[in-house]
Amino acid sequence: MQDYNYHTHTYRCGHAQDDFTDEDYVLEFIKQGFKRICFTDHMPEKNKIDKRTNMRMDYSQKEEYYQSIKSLQDKYKDKIKIELGFEAEYLPGDEEYLLELKKETNKIILGQHFVLNKGKLRIFRQADFTDKELLKYAEYIETAMKIGIPDIIAHPDIYMLNRNTFGKIETKVANLICKAAEKYQIPLEINLTYPCLYYLHKRGSIVYPCKEFWQIASNYNIKVLYGVDAHFKEQIEYYKESVETANEHLGEEIIQKLHFVNDKLN
Ligand SMILES: [Zn+2]
Ligand SMILES: [Zn+2]
Repeated sequence: MQDYNYHTHTYRCGHAQDDFTDEDYVLEFIKQGFKRICFTDHMPEKNKIDKRTNMRMDYSQKEEYYQSIKSLQDKYKDKIKIELGFEAEYLPGDEEYLLELKKETNKIILGQHFVLNKGKLRIFRQADFTDKELLKYAEYIETAMKIGIPDIIAHPDIYMLNRNTFGKIETKVANLICKAAEKYQIPLEINLTYPCLYYLHKRGSIVYPCKEFWQIASNYNIKVLYGVDAHFKEQIEYYKESVETANEHLGEEIIQKLHFVNDKLN
């Protein structure tokens, strides 16, 4: 079982467990046998484009976040390796800022939650995406990789949140993302949010991981890893069960074909 997790949030984003401190996350990961983790809270914006509240820390909180994680790094260095990072979205024009964040941290995971269309932010789960916008999603991911921003692509299959069927355009988007991931050798994450919810409640559907997407991914030479996307203690507590649920959902054949990263990334 993968004993590292490079997708962890903090209360600063405003939608994670608010009584769970950074140190609580570390202690819970240690308790569950993890050997290395990276904090990747939603990145702050320098220029506010995402107007939603409770989505990300304020830019003014960045330094305090760095200090908090760095002090934990030191405090628990004999028990667990702790890294600092962000979950970031790419938007044209943000290249310099994103590379600046990358320079200041250990890892950037790309969680592309939206695209910009004619100056409007189009957010998954909120808007119905046109085929063109869906292709833009794939294009953003590819551009971000080309520039050298992400170390990991988080939930690459998130675009299926807005789709009912996996048709021609969805297939095309999957191939574009996988082709780029193979070319730039950037690992793709199987996100465990929904498998964990499914496990805990035994109801609701697993929106992602999307079986069709990972079937396509399994035909490429891509590194794959699980991401807890931890916002709550329970997600770490039920990690093993979530992996099992995800694997069951994707099926043995796909899981066997995927190239899981069993070692550290870098
Ligand atoms: Zn979040
Ligand atoms: Zn996340």
